[in-house]
Amino acid sequence: MLTKDTAICIRAIDYSETSQILTFFTRDTGKIGAIAKGSKRPKSSFGGPFEIFSYGKIVFAESDKDKLSTLTEFESALAGAGFSKLSANLFTLNCCLFGAELLNKLTHDYDPHPQLFDDFLQFLQNAGEDTNNSNMLTLLILFQLSLLKETGLQPVLSHCVNCKSRYASRDTEPVLSAVEGTHEVYFSSSVNGLICRDCEAAFPDKIRLSPNAANCLSNLKLLTDAQEKTLKEIEKLLTHHLTEILGHKPKMAKYILNL
Ligand SMILES: [Zn+2]
Repeated sequence: MLTKDTAICIRAIDYSETSQILTFFTRDTGKIGAIAKGSKRPKSSFGGPFEIFSYGKIVFAESDKDKLSTLTEFESALAGAGFSKLSANLFTLNCCLFGAELLNKLTHDYDPHPQLFDDFLQFLQNAGEDTNNSNMLTLLILFQLSLLKETGLQPVLSHCVNCKSRYASRDTEPVLSAVEGTHEVYFSSSVNGLICRDCEAAFPDKIRLSPNAANCLSNLKLLTDAQEKTLKEIEKLLTHHLTEILGHKPKMAKYILNL
């Protein structure tokens, strides 16, 4: 059976002199593994070898479960041209590779998530247009939160997971010294969300958040104007949380936090 879909390549490995094995995240089918026979030949019908983030329309022959599909057609999308700029900035590229790694690890074959596809595409497009490191970190954080939400792992960021007391966010970043001690909030990976000062003792794995980080997490609009220090703290927390979820540290993580 031939299936048509829109796809982004999230992993490409050489299989032979002329062929590649690819992992695509497709809009309507979900993640698929496919072999592209002859893709590395000079006159390949696919228009050249695939690279990570190749984006366009694909046609593939589905095979039995646990086997690779066979890619039969690929038509690159013009909008994908912006992705070529991703490699102009190493930090931007690393953030996008980190996003692709997490997407690959947190999704299952043939489990479609159209909203997540759209979010990932938007993430790559925005990353290609902006090379500012702080903005890139914001994009990465938002994509990671979207990935957690769409895969059913959305963390609770509005109230204490244990006692349900609401976390009162503010519309601006508070001045750190003024609220230190009065605004104690923690995050626990084991319960997937915020924990308040009254409950924290029961959660040994909790991590204390700065007021700025807690505020940004409970009101994501604040991320746009957040200080780089706050963004790094949040990314460190999310990397820790994703490591707990996956059971191992993602490979690309070390290239992001050594900013
Ligand atoms: Zn509580």
